[in-house]
Amino acid sequence: MISKYKKLVIKIGSSSIINPKTKKIKSVWFNSLAKDIKVLHKTTKITIVCSGAIALGAELFKNKKTLRRLEEKQAAAAIGQIELAHNWKQKLKKNNIDTAQILLTLDDSETRRRYLNARKTINALHNNNIIPIINENDTVATEEIKYGDNDRLAARVAQMVDADLLILLSDIDGLYSTNPQNSKEAKKIKKIYKIDKKIEKMADSQSSEIGSGGMTTKIWAAKMCMTNGCSTIITGNNNSKPLLGINHNNSTIFYAQNSPTSARKKWLLNHLHPNGFLIIDDGALKAIMQNKSLLPAGIIDIKGSFRRGDVITILSAKKNKIGIGVSAYDFNEAKKIMGKNSKDISKILGYEGRDEIIHKDDLVKVQ
Ligand code: GLU
Repeated sequence: MISKYKKLVIKIGSSSIINPKTKKIKSVWFNSLAKDIKVLHKTTKITIVCSGAIALGAELFKNKKTLRRLEEKQAAAAIGQIELAHNWKQKLKKNNIDTAQILLTLDDSETRRRYLNARKTINALHNNNIIPIINENDTVATEEIKYGDNDRLAARVAQMVDADLLILLSDIDGLYSTNPQNSKEAKKIKKIYKIDKKIEKMADSQSSEIGSGGMTTKIWAAKMCMTNGCSTIITGNNNSKPLLGINHNNSTIFYAQNSPTSARKKWLLNHLHPNGFLIIDDGALKAIMQNKSLLPAGIIDIKGSFRRGDVITILSAKKNKIGIGVSAYDFNEAKKIMGKNSKDISKILGYEGRDEIIHKDDLVKVQ
């Protein structure tokens, strides 16, 4: 089922790679996974996003009972990550594949310059037939600056490498109509072409034992990928052929929609942490719907704090999300020119500025 895809991102959840009881790496399953990767590696560019650093490190941490403080969890991640990377290196080397480790922080995907840089690094590894093994840089990520779960990180990576398939290996083999652990009525949804409210509701409460994702973040990741021309498969972790054995009975597939949006707009659309909000009037809303730029005159309120060049969200007067864009002004300047005619900008600020607060080339509508 997956052999037709050319660029794969494979995300392995903590509960897939670590035995929830012994808290050790599931070596037998890992060996099967590595064998499948060997076969696919011949015709496909593969990127791995693997969780488990914190769970593994917590087990190895000397004083595990006191593992409550942030720095202790970060220390656990540091211990676990080296163990995880070591295992990947060993398992793939046995199959004659070289690996490299990349640890990303949220900023590496949300700041465009760093995003392009990370992309170049991954491309360079692929061009040398090396498989990148990626995780979040948990040792430095704090609450405000982290992805928090590797489903979203994997979706961002899929976009970074222009993947056509994201595979989420998890402790559940797809999306069910309701939680299969609590209900016999639960039915697997095998093929999904659009993620609507009904699908999002199904994802509620289908969470996993270890790791932080759950079904909600998987749906979120699938949604992001769908708009980027990348399909997503959610599948289980007890298959003796974890990748080559994927079929429609043991997975859910979310089919990609073709989207004509430019790479820059795709990056914008999937930005994870906008820094501020512009609330606009109906006139500006109409202009945006007609693919025009956003002028200061149409802004009725501003929230958050942002600098020039930061990504911000546009909300309608009724607080519906309209779009995302790059601000040409910082928060204080925007406050001063809000509601004003563009020809007065230089008088108000004391220097020449752009007519638009968000230029149409830097703006993407949210469908
Ligand atoms: N980055 C975390 C780790 O390796 C996992 C996050 C997640 O569970 O998705 O431990």
